[in-house]
Amino acid sequence: MFSEGLPTSGQRGSVRRPSPNKRTFGGVLDHISREDHGRLPSLLSRGAVQGALTLLIRQNRTATTEDLRFLSSIGNQLGVALENARLFTKTQRRSMELNVINTVMQEITQTLALDEILDCICEQTTRLMNAESFFVGLLNEEGDEIHARVIVDKGERLEPFSFPMSDGNTLTSYIVATGESLLFYDLQAQRANLPAPGLIVGPAPHAWLGVPMMLEDRIIGAMSIQSYTPDRFTEADRRILSVIAGQTAIAISKARLFEELETRMKQLQDAQARLMQSEKMAALGALVSGVAHELNNPLTAVIGYAQLLQLRDLDDDIKRDLQRIYDGAQRSSQIANDLLTFARSYKPQRSPVDINQALQQTLALQAYEMRVHNTKIVTDLLPDLLMTMADPHRLKQVFLNLIVNAQQAMEGAKGGGILTVRTVRPPDRPGTIRIEFEDNGPGIPPEILGRIFDPFFTTKEVGKGTGLGLSICYGIITEHGGTIWAENNVERGKGAESGAIFIVDLPFVPVKDEKSGDEQSPDEAVQDEEILRILVVDDEPDVVELIRRVAEPQGHHVEKASDGIEALELLGQNDFQIIFCDLKMPGLSGDALYERVAKERPEMAQRFVFISGDTFNTESRAFVALTGRSLIMKPFSIADIQGILDEWVKKKK
Ligand code: ADP
Repeated sequence: MFSEGLPTSGQRGSVRRPSPNKRTFGGVLDHISREDHGRLPSLLSRGAVQGALTLLIRQNRTATTEDLRFLSSIGNQLGVALENARLFTKTQRRSMELNVINTVMQEITQTLALDEILDCICEQTTRLMNAESFFVGLLNEEGDEIHARVIVDKGERLEPFSFPMSDGNTLTSYIVATGESLLFYDLQAQRANLPAPGLIVGPAPHAWLGVPMMLEDRIIGAMSIQSYTPDRFTEADRRILSVIAGQTAIAISKARLFEELETRMKQLQDAQARLMQSEKMAALGALVSGVAHELNNPLTAVIGYAQLLQLRDLDDDIKRDLQRIYDGAQRSSQIANDLLTFARSYKPQRSPVDINQALQQTLALQAYEMRVHNTKIVTDLLPDLLMTMADPHRLKQVFLNLIVNAQQAMEGAKGGGILTVRTVRPPDRPGTIRIEFEDNGPGIPPEILGRIFDPFFTTKEVGKGTGLGLSICYGIITEHGGTIWAENNVERGKGAESGAIFIVDLPFVPVKDEKSGDEQSPDEAVQDEEILRILVVDDEPDVVELIRRVAEPQGHHVEKASDGIEALELLGQNDFQIIFCDLKMPGLSGDALYERVAKERPEMAQRFVFISGDTFNTESRAFVALTGRSLIMKPFSIADIQGILDEWVKKKK
């Protein structure tokens, strides 16, 4: 069993084994007894005594000077041979040590993968030192914990673990705290002589050698080897282990630097990708908003005329067809509006929003769906999230999209899963509220990660997805001054966990006590006549015609002007109770016309009803809000026009 905490002998730095008394006697005993024995001296090598030769003579004679000379010469030869053998062993060991250091250094220069390097060091070291266990413990950044990075016992790699430095009762923490190396010839026998009181020692092993790992003059951890057999390690091992520990420390610092570099690179790449993404989105937005805007005019005509025709006395099958035309146009109009949301052609209607509450309300809405589709919801909401100014309806639209997407992804991949919704205050982005939607579904294939926010991008089968959900989310969040992006859990370093995470960062906007100055004053200039006189100012003949077709059957009188100049002329000569006026026209635009009329005939200016094809145009909305007039959006329906007419008729009464 691997044992980390081992006792010491009380001697600082090392626990030395008592050395046997060395005898350096090197003379020749030339006393030879009658029993025919003699002791002949020493095995000399370069003047040092290596041992002794003893000669027993069984014949009945005494040893002669010849014998002595003969044995002395053999002794000397043997001495030289023994010395050579010892030198050879020493050289061999030295060469093995050099080999190990060389291999380790090669490994360090060839790879930056720390695990590979540590494996190599472990293998080389245990082989060289004949050790059964190997251990590398690293001090964390805060200096309060040791992470057991490599623990190998009898060839088996054990699970890494951490232990606090404050425990201070392991040999490793002792080495890390003091910077001393420790050598025990037999730890079990030396239990009474530990270098500090309170150190805990397990029942194994016997031989123990540990050294600090230093980087310049900083201790970054400790390395130790162990054996179940006493007397395994020597002072020479201590020296060589110190060298290896030094090299390992360099490798670790290199690997850490490399890791840091990689993280920075990844951050840089992410930032670059986000920049490219936002540029792409801006270009797409401009294109899409133009198209959507242009679509709204013809759609107004399609919807309006379909409705008009339905009012007629027609066959049921024709009416059904008209309904189909109407439904199709409505759907197209919805798509156009979604595209305008993506293109951020609107300003959010800000009011104080409790993000947690908005999330909970959206989740509650989906609770049944989630249950039915085996989706478990886990919420982890910051309790003290302050209210922020935002558009609650739009935000809920984003939340709903993300929740439904996650549920569909998990259901498609494994019939259900867990969706975790979190609110966070990211420490690296102060003033931001972060909302995370993390699922454990299949994740997003990296090759489509850069496209999922594009309008109409979908991987879902026809009829299941329009590919507009995330585009809308993108538009809404960007318009709030926030950011939205997606990552895969695996890339976030969440182990092998699958699934995607959508992250929404919203800027925190403190709630001010502001009242919207919406004082809508009712118009008092109502004419006596029963019949309304209506002016429609629009360059789109279809729009003019639609209003005419609604109003005239009711007896109202409709005149048309295709631009502001023409309208001015008509207004100069006549009184109108309603002036339907498009905002965007060639020549004199709707707002310019209004301003002229407001100056010249203020009572007439109060009868304006503005028409806009750009649903979310902020400037138009702001302008109309300032005038206090009504605004109808293209494509509008007969009901919209009828509503305006009814209102004016009521005023007249
Ligand atoms: P739609 O849902 O109509 O496909 P979206 O714009 O909402 O459109 O999503 C675009 C695509 O993004 C999806 O088709 C899907 O491939 C991918 N996607 C969105 N959310 C997830 C998710 N949680 N896990 C995996 N893929 C997702």
